[in-house]
Amino acid sequence: MSTLRFNALKETLNRKPVKVEEKGRRSEAFGKNVFNEHAMLQHLTKDAYQSVMNAIEYGTKIDRKIADHISTGMKEWAISKGATHYTHWFQPLTGATAEKHDAFFETIGNGRAMEKFGGGQLVQQEPDASSFPNGGIRNTFEARGYTAWDPTSPAFIYGTTLCIPTIFVAYTGEALDNKAPLLRALQAVDTAATAVCKYFDKNVSKVNASLGWEQEYFLIDSALASARPDITLTGRTLLGHSPAKGQQLDDHYFGSIPTRVMNYMRDLEQECMLLGIPVKTRHNEVAPNQFELAPIFEEANLAVDHNSLLMDVMEKVAQRHQFKVLFHEKPFSGINGSGKHNNWSLATNTGVNLLSPGKTPMKNLQFLTFFVNTIKAVHNNEELIRAAIASASNDHRLGANEAPPAIISVFIGSQLSAVLDELENVTKGKLSPQEKTDLKLNIVGKIPEILLDNTDRNRTSPFAFTGNKFELRAVGSWANCAGPMTVLNTIIAKQLKDFKVEVDALVAEKGLKKDEAVFNILREYIKDSKKIRFEGNGYGEAWEKEAAKRGLSNNKTTPEALKAQVSEKAVAVYEEMNVMSKIEVEARHEIELEEYILRIQIESRVLGDIARNHVIPTGIGYQNTLIENVSGLKEIFGKDFKKLAAEQIDLIEKISGHIAGINSKVNAMTDERKKANKLAGQKAAEAYCNKVKPYFEEIRYHCDKLELLVDDNLWPLVKYRELLFTR
Ligand code: ADP
Ligand code: MG
Repeated sequence: MSTLRFNALKETLNRKPVKVEEKGRRSEAFGKNVFNEHAMLQHLTKDAYQSVMNAIEYGTKIDRKIADHISTGMKEWAISKGATHYTHWFQPLTGATAEKHDAFFETIGNGRAMEKFGGGQLVQQEPDASSFPNGGIRNTFEARGYTAWDPTSPAFIYGTTLCIPTIFVAYTGEALDNKAPLLRALQAVDTAATAVCKYFDKNVSKVNASLGWEQEYFLIDSALASARPDITLTGRTLLGHSPAKGQQLDDHYFGSIPTRVMNYMRDLEQECMLLGIPVKTRHNEVAPNQFELAPIFEEANLAVDHNSLLMDVMEKVAQRHQFKVLFHEKPFSGINGSGKHNNWSLATNTGVNLLSPGKTPMKNLQFLTFFVNTIKAVHNNEELIRAAIASASNDHRLGANEAPPAIISVFIGSQLSAVLDELENVTKGKLSPQEKTDLKLNIVGKIPEILLDNTDRNRTSPFAFTGNKFELRAVGSWANCAGPMTVLNTIIAKQLKDFKVEVDALVAEKGLKKDEAVFNILREYIKDSKKIRFEGNGYGEAWEKEAAKRGLSNNKTTPEALKAQVSEKAVAVYEEMNVMSKIEVEARHEIELEEYILRIQIESRVLGDIARNHVIPTGIGYQNTLIENVSGLKEIFGKDFKKLAAEQIDLIEKISGHIAGINSKVNAMTDERKKANKLAGQKAAEAYCNKVKPYFEEIRYHCDKLELLVDDNLWPLVKYRELLFTR
């Protein structure tokens, strides 16, 4: 009997839900461990408080003297809450978060000690970060990298550590993390969008991008997960036969949440409340043991931090409940994968959501301006968006016959499609008073505040307008949202900047009124960007053919998709918007290719090991039992044994066939890996993608067949039905 699997199953079946006490009202717990405005007012001098607020609002620099006041207030607050350590919390290009804890405690001579935390320690640190990926930046320039405080994301206490959100940059200023380019992109979109807003409302002085993510994940019992080397080492199952029952019945979706899971969620939500992560909804997803968690949306930088923090907290809380969280986009074949929808919008400091239709024609012209510019930006940069969501694990969703597809398109719904069709007919140049009135009353003025078909229920569009925001659905569940948010806000900034130049030119050179000029430019944009709009079903071959005809890209694999990141066009946009330099873009590209190579390499090795060390010996073991049985029959029945042993003999042959299949494919895969390892960069990534990876399916095929043939008692790997249906 296969002991590890059965011990794990026994452990799982004996689990009791971990009790979770409700600790009072959520609203009271909210933000308790965050150094937010409320805490700052209590612990900072007026000057210090104002200076942080100015930094948040206007990006002004914080004076070093003031920083000393802030750090002292922050330290006192943190210690009063039981913190003993502090850390600069940052997001290196590994996609995870990093921290190095230092104690507040310092000795001051005479055998005495005190808690210390100066402005210098708050503002800047030099972590020993030589092992974080840097894409060659720190080799060519200065070896040092440092973290710098980001006052726009408040410090928080997790456990007994004060965590200070920071950016991570090289000594020469190049970004080594996900946050620095994001902050620059948000700055760029603020500048560009604020300038465009002034056409409609002079009072607008700042525009914030907002993000509301929806995190999907799987929860598997930790004992079962540990009994699967593939889950432990790669985050997904590399083999396993589909269970007789999968998600066909759709009985998990929005169904009642199992008690163990419910308790996990409640525990998690309480942690989130303390950390100021405004989680709001939780429910079952389509696949068995798949769930989703979504917060109320926030300013994009904060939302990105909160998602990274959440993923950490989810793993920690899961340990208390003997679960393992799977963030992988496709942990199980044959059932749905996980994504992380990024709901995105722009909002003014006067409280207007720029992607929400309004009550007056003027408000709606403003809405249409931002709406059409977004579509145009996606049209112009579809390949860059595809690159921003590319990863080895997300390839299993995009371009692998799942929705959303690898083709980027925009869904806007029939009502708004009709409005754009009308706007295409706007007269070139000056508009007659009659036409203007007609436009304002009958077209722009008729956009309802609530759009009826805004939800795109077929869910196959990678970028859908959903009533008052766009929803980028192609982001992977494992991803750091900073990547896609950096790209989206950068291309929108560039687009709005160009729009303003064009409108101003029409006003200055052709003597058009501002609204006439806006209508004129929008008309051209609507025409130019038509091919990116798609309302149909994005799942399947019909759309692939149609998209190819339209000239849309369909980059199915990460090595293919990533190329767009370093195209001349992309570098020009990044540089123009001051988001990244060519060096930074190229470094990131190198890191992402490397990450891709490593992931496939690890999967390939793990699969080879499992197939050889677990599956083949199990097959042989069972085969030996069959052989013994056949010999026994022969002994008893003499030459008549053949009829009686027909089934067994057939099985013995089949098992041999699959063992031979596994052996030859694993050998071939290993040879391809050796060849790939002699290459570097793009070529190596392509070799891993096109030469090594195709063997995964072939090896899996034989393993999964054996799983069906071999005595269940002998099978060493926890089976799909056990992973997915044991609770
Ligand atoms: P669903 O997509 O499941 O139908 P909702 O439409 O209610 O759900 O919203 C999903 C997510 O969109 C939530 O995280 C919500 O906070 C976020 N969201 C709502 N409005 C905005 C906005 N203006 N900007 C960014 N995110 C938003
Ligand atoms: Mg959604």
